[in-house]
Amino acid sequence: MSAGESDDKAFIDTLIAYSWDEGLESDLAYDIHVSMPSELPLRLVDRRHEIVDTQRGGLRFRNRYDGSVSSEPPKDLHLHELVDLDVDDVDAVIAFCNEFGLLWLPKGVIESHEVPGVQSAVASWDHPPSWRSVEPVIDVREVQLALRLLRATTASWVAYQANTKLDAAWVDEGLQQPIGDDQAMRWMLAIINPGLVSAYPSLVLTRAGETAQSLETGLGINHGISLYDAICVRIYNDVVTHRPYNYCENELCRRAFLTKRDPLERSKTRTSGVRFCSDVCKRRQDSREYRRRKNQESK
Ligand SMILES: [Zn+2]
Repeated sequence: MSAGESDDKAFIDTLIAYSWDEGLESDLAYDIHVSMPSELPLRLVDRRHEIVDTQRGGLRFRNRYDGSVSSEPPKDLHLHELVDLDVDDVDAVIAFCNEFGLLWLPKGVIESHEVPGVQSAVASWDHPPSWRSVEPVIDVREVQLALRLLRATTASWVAYQANTKLDAAWVDEGLQQPIGDDQAMRWMLAIINPGLVSAYPSLVLTRAGETAQSLETGLGINHGISLYDAICVRIYNDVVTHRPYNYCENELCRRAFLTKRDPLERSKTRTSGVRFCSDVCKRRQDSREYRRRKNQESK
């Protein structure tokens, strides 16, 4: 393949950094590509670790002995549960990890000089980064930082798709403000790429004639990726498909979403012409409008 016809599907878009008006200017433009122009499979997530108590800023976990040791988070976890979580609420963070899997920062992210504030944050933790720890304890701030970085990355892509500046995505999570959109995009890359290494392709064997055995449980498949990786794969897939988001028409929600969340049919895809992110949002907006009409009439 000659350079001129380099695979078109891998090219996503050209990022033209906004020139910023706060005195800090950045005008690097990038072409955004993906190295594999197809959606990555959503693997089962390792949820062997169950958080059982807290101690001195740490979450102590043990191997789970009831419930499944893997979870299958919805394909739009990053647009729903991840966004809805109150990161400052430690109990909510524990519940999130115990449902989907323990969240920790990959070594590559912690050691990155690109990702904002990570190295200085690590220095303030009571417990070493999970990849270095010998005890079954993770610093709660590591989990919270992982949540914030993944949320900022998701929000950056949402903002990018909406053609707005990417800095709010980081500031809203209490992170450093990027100097320009180009820096925000480099941060995204430094956060996602270490989480994509477990998505490698593999040769898989399943028992012939056993219909109950799915590809996911076959021999050779990468069983149980980390929750961090699972979220990165989901964000990557949004970038690859480049699908525009819908915005919830509930005026108090306005969530960017791809598929309507129906608790009975989790993650079933219905992507076009959807106005609300959930039936709950639709009902709330309907009754809000109904009350408004009533008020109007009684005047
Ligand atoms: Zn909504």
